[in-house]
Amino acid sequence: MSTLNPKRTVAELKELRSLTADENGAQRVAFTKTWVQTRAWLRKKLEAIPVEMHTDAAGNLWTTLRGESEKCLLIGGHMDSVPNGGWLDGCLNVMAGVEILRRINAQYNGKPPVTVRLVDWADEEGARFGKSLFGSSACSGNLDMNEARGLKDKDGIRLPDALKEVGVDFERVKDSGKELQNAAAYLELHIEQGPVLLDLDLPLGAVLGTFGVERHAITFHGQAAHSGSTPMNRRKDAFLAAAKMSPEIYRIAERSHGGVCTIGSCTTKPGIVTSVVEECRITLDQRHLDGPTLAKMLKDARDASERFAKEGNVNVCWERLWQIDPRPFNDELIALCDEAIRETCGKVHRLPSGPLHDAAEVARAGVPTVMMFVQSLHGISHNKIEDTKEEHLELCVTAFDKLAEKAMKWISEKSASKL
Ligand SMILES: [Zn+2]
Repeated sequence: MSTLNPKRTVAELKELRSLTADENGAQRVAFTKTWVQTRAWLRKKLEAIPVEMHTDAAGNLWTTLRGESEKCLLIGGHMDSVPNGGWLDGCLNVMAGVEILRRINAQYNGKPPVTVRLVDWADEEGARFGKSLFGSSACSGNLDMNEARGLKDKDGIRLPDALKEVGVDFERVKDSGKELQNAAAYLELHIEQGPVLLDLDLPLGAVLGTFGVERHAITFHGQAAHSGSTPMNRRKDAFLAAAKMSPEIYRIAERSHGGVCTIGSCTTKPGIVTSVVEECRITLDQRHLDGPTLAKMLKDARDASERFAKEGNVNVCWERLWQIDPRPFNDELIALCDEAIRETCGKVHRLPSGPLHDAAEVARAGVPTVMMFVQSLHGISHNKIEDTKEEHLELCVTAFDKLAEKAMKWISEKSASKL
């Protein structure tokens, strides 16, 4: 006797919007007053279910419905938003989780076969301190403490001081890692934030993992020379070599089957209208779900840059700005996600996630993980126009609930086979 009521989730999301958004969008920036109010609102919703609730050492809010087994099914999301954010990013996941807890509690009379826990991660967005996935990376043990200790917001307030305001001791945040004891699976629902499902006219997708990222600055060095007196065949034009990279990265992305490459910035020196470019610096961002393919994309870009440098009689050097490995999700959970979507709306598409999510950190900690995406209208997020059709919101709660049920069974069967 399922009591799942997806319409209630939509109504609660609207209620949350009316409490925490203004005419510019959602204002639930982590560690601010509105965020604290949001958490209080969430706690009230959860208090109606017989659950235990506490905040961990990193400020993540955990809600636990004890089951017959200690093994835990985790459902996660984030109530924080970027400033002027959308009404669904992060909180859809949490509110769907609240509804699923209600259903499981009712169906199993307060005692499901496995323990079910809902986590509201602290500061997923990193909007204030410029570092995303704070709570989940502290929990997974991957937070760089030295880097995080030095972070300041635009008013010069340090992250450790902002945390103290909400009762979190920065030096102890990694103690939150103990919350992952007994974690047997992690599920996260999210709006897609891109146009893939929209273009396919599909409401839901099973997420294969999060992209690995290689981010580099590439600088070409030539020679400045007078634009009037220097014949074309005598030039060492740094811009010419850099510019050849632009069509090249489209070819590299195409060969990679599913990867993306972006040259996001270009600066020239001396940067005046009467001089050949002496120095040209571009930045290249490359992403793919498969590690070896991403490495090949990077090598191809490097080789091409050296070829173009040679052709143009200039030099080139590379500097790595940032890197993160791909985080593929659990194959068996992806299959269950697929099944849940198929049973709900017939058709499914599997896709990687370009943006990072808390799920990537949980997967990194070794917990079997999967995400489900629901279509985004306009394919846009981090903007007040972010939206999803109401019928799709209801479908995603239903499908995500089916996935939770399947994952509980999966955990039970797995632990039984180990006995
Ligand atoms: Zn999000």
